[in-house]
Amino acid sequence: MLTPRDYDRNMTRPHVGEVRVTVLGTAQDGGFPQPGCQRACCMSHIAQTNPRMPVALGITGLDGSHHLVEASRMMYTQFQIWKQDLGHHPSIPKSISLTHAHLGHIDGLGLLGKEVMSTRDVKVHCSQSVSQHIEHTPAYAALIDQGAITLKIWQSNVAFRPTTECGFTIEPIPVPHRSEFTDCHALVIDSGGGRLLFLPDHDSWEETLNQLDIREWMAQLRVNVALLDGTFWNADELQNRDMQEIPHPTVEESLQRLGVKQSGDPDIRFFHLNHTNPLCDPQSEQSQILRDMGWSVANDGDSFTLESL
Ligand SMILES: [Zn+2]
Ligand SMILES: [Zn+2]
Ligand SMILES: [Zn+2]
Repeated sequence: MLTPRDYDRNMTRPHVGEVRVTVLGTAQDGGFPQPGCQRACCMSHIAQTNPRMPVALGITGLDGSHHLVEASRMMYTQFQIWKQDLGHHPSIPKSISLTHAHLGHIDGLGLLGKEVMSTRDVKVHCSQSVSQHIEHTPAYAALIDQGAITLKIWQSNVAFRPTTECGFTIEPIPVPHRSEFTDCHALVIDSGGGRLLFLPDHDSWEETLNQLDIREWMAQLRVNVALLDGTFWNADELQNRDMQEIPHPTVEESLQRLGVKQSGDPDIRFFHLNHTNPLCDPQSEQSQILRDMGWSVANDGDSFTLESL
């Protein structure tokens, strides 16, 4: 039987029984187009008409609460993208989960402080090393002193609930990624009825997979949707920079490992696209190759509903 509270919940929340994940950014840390770039990639029509925000997710919990994965300086625009998907403006997030401390993943944290949002007690979930990085960066440490954020340290491979009533869990999976500041994790968001993998950055498939192939690894993680590191299409994009300096498995390599989509495969979408990546343009030959193989590129504003049990 419905109590008045349940009735109210059913009447006011359109997505009862679902956890909704909205993609709030699909570019590498610098965004697309990127400041300072005067090459064709960022001068093109597509760069002007289809910009991409740095990677992030917005998650709407079962109780209607809002949660972020990554804290980007583009949070204002990301909230507009989120609003468009939800049909209403998201409230101040109750939690933020951070994969690592490279620029685009953490540079919006300061927006929670008294100069801007002036939040209270937003739970910032992260690894021990990311929490130490926050504590040792004066501008971020001030947020703790102000009470704007509370750090919550996760354990690798142990799922946690971002807030008590949100109705989903997040499991941090350690992945190798050049660890200048901190370690790095991929995240699996689990509603009980569906699982989504968020893997924006890692150095190489060999290290991440540890003897498995991609399908076996994903089967082990039991994911229905996978957002995968697609930073570079191939090494040609780097021009004068060395792949050793910024290692990521290329999309070409991932496609070689995956082959064409087979029945039962998860919905795999590539994201964290560098501004040089031809996948930024849906009309490119490379985008067509990806589609022909049955895979796709994630776009800002894509959303997934994960059923709850
Ligand atoms: Zn990144
Ligand atoms: Zn560019
Ligand atoms: Zn990174």
